[in-house]
Amino acid sequence: MQWAERTAGAVIGSAVGDALGAPFEFGPAGAFSARFPAPGAAEEMCGGGGWDPGEATDDTQMAVMVAESLLERDGLDLPDIFRRFQRWAASGPKDIGLQTEDVLTNGAPWDTAAALHFQVSQRAAGNGSLMRAATSAVYFARDGQRATMDAARRIAALTHGDRAAWEGTALFHELLRVTLEGGDPLTVLPDVLALVHPDHRPRYATVLAPDWHPGQATEFNGAVWPCLGSAVWALRTTAGYEEAVRAAIDLGGDTDTVAAVTGGLAGAYYGLDAIPARWTAPLHVPLPGFGDRVLKLPQLLALTHSLAA
Ligand SMILES: [Mg+2]
Repeated sequence: MQWAERTAGAVIGSAVGDALGAPFEFGPAGAFSARFPAPGAAEEMCGGGGWDPGEATDDTQMAVMVAESLLERDGLDLPDIFRRFQRWAASGPKDIGLQTEDVLTNGAPWDTAAALHFQVSQRAAGNGSLMRAATSAVYFARDGQRATMDAARRIAALTHGDRAAWEGTALFHELLRVTLEGGDPLTVLPDVLALVHPDHRPRYATVLAPDWHPGQATEFNGAVWPCLGSAVWALRTTAGYEEAVRAAIDLGGDTDTVAAVTGGLAGAYYGLDAIPARWTAPLHVPLPGFGDRVLKLPQLLALTHSLAA
């Protein structure tokens, strides 16, 4: 499979997972399959809970902001990404993570806002930096293992003061890099775990173990560990993009984000062609704070093309 097919699969796959999972957020396990028992129903991209059919949420909106910063600044410009996030947060997006909102609106500068939040709250290991990582993972994949993991940690740290979130995002970047290059992310897991900060390695080793199941999670899947573990579990236990994303949404809870992370990995693994047209056709990403811009499939593909060049 071609590089372009895999990189487009990663970005579009993540956005589709986000939009497909959004109407089921905070719902019970099995809700998607209860509503759509047989795969292939035309109405699966159903909308609801304030979302239009095919509308992507904060996960993809933030991923697009990161992508546009990387391209317009020709590399990693952390204050620029932070400013874009702030502009977006100030415009009242339909959804924004509690922690992300606090960090972006507490008035502190880009390099201390997240640390300040963590100091006060002592809880900052949400999945909010992992959920938006598909675009940066594509952009930094060519630069190799060390560079992509380093970039992941630094972008994560803009909004998440807890190193657990940095390490989870770095794991995702590296697993996606391996997948984009045609490798098997499940096979390399033990090697990639060795690159995680030692203080955080045991917890990731637990949720990424071959016999781990999301039912064994000790936190809600809005936390970074079970979110990444569930995405890898969905990829491991299914045989296609559609099936993986369906399994992710059927876990319930933070369905849009677990499906966005799953969709990024599965999209890279199976390629753009594996993502059903009935899911990509209604896909659209509004960008609050950036005029009336709404990115649809052609714009997202063009963006990915530039990121992957
Ligand atoms: Mg979301």
